[in-house]
Amino acid sequence: MLKALTDLFFPKACVGCDAFLMSNEAIICANCRHELPLTSHHLHQENETTQKFYGRIQVEYGSSFMYFHKKGIVQEIIHSLKYRGHEEIGTLIGDWYSEDLKDNAILKTVDSIIPVPLHPKKLKERGYNQVTTFGKSLSYNFEIPLDETLLRRNRYSKTQTLKNSIGRADVTQALFDVNFNEEHHNKHYLLIDDVLTTGATLEACGKAILKIPGAKLSIITMAFSHS
Ligand SMILES: [Zn+2]
Repeated sequence: MLKALTDLFFPKACVGCDAFLMSNEAIICANCRHELPLTSHHLHQENETTQKFYGRIQVEYGSSFMYFHKKGIVQEIIHSLKYRGHEEIGTLIGDWYSEDLKDNAILKTVDSIIPVPLHPKKLKERGYNQVTTFGKSLSYNFEIPLDETLLRRNRYSKTQTLKNSIGRADVTQALFDVNFNEEHHNKHYLLIDDVLTTGATLEACGKAILKIPGAKLSIITMAFSHS
């Protein structure tokens, strides 16, 4: 009763389009859900996500859930997840994507899920890593442990300002450390992130993970951007 009253006076808005949510909707309205530009990457072993890493790092499996367009619904959703404290969006996307991915044979061989880490200073400012809830959802649905300690971002990314004088990839490569011991050898790691754009960050993380002897790498992101 109290919740119904609260909802009546403070109706919740959809994070995609700002429309008021119906009582049977949560976070994202049914219209936005149906209009999400899905990639269908999971239906193809080779797709735009895997192609992004050709000649850069060896990827066993790669896919992104939806397309990111500037000023589109997905930008609104990701923005709400990253900057407006709506961590529950990651859970929702993780649950939707788990449904698509549940029969994937390669993912059944994954030993550990690794979110792209934030710099500790940024983590303190934001209060959460925007990829964590997505990772927790995949972890729960696939019964694969989430590991937020293996990778560490060791300084702020200065890629934007340095990319003219020094190669972008070379700069970002030095940003991630991997803390591993023998128990980490010969494992399959699933690296996850919010939006795949140039792939420079994921490539740098991937290279760090692939320093572990016998490591295999797969990559899943919530969104894929063509720009
Ligand atoms: Zn909506």
